Amino acid sequence: MQAVTQATAVCRRCGGTVRLTYETGPYLAVGPRVELRNVAVRRCSVCSHMGIEVPDVRALDVLVRCLCGQRTPEIPRLEYADGRWRIEARATSSDCR
Ligand SMILES: [Zn+2]
Repeated sequence: MQAVTQATAVCRRCGGTVRLTYETGPYLAVGPRVELRNVAVRRCSVCSHMGIEVPDVRALDVLVRCLCGQRTPEIPRLEYADGRWRIEARATSSDCR
């Protein structure tokens, strides 16, 4: 796990300025497609090479697997807050055990 220490960096590909933003985007790994809320995204302003910094990936994967059995019409949105991943409350709520 990497800590976000600086707001800008230099692109490894082209040497351009990489900016750090917090975005909501899709995450595809072990199970169904989910969205991550407010994850740190580094994107080069020149070549648009990007990287996403996901905190506590192991815990996230466990949670995503847990969502596998559920068939919801909406894409679950997950948020990292207070040191753990949680499912953002939506209109159709579902609990994960
Ligand atoms: Zn670049």
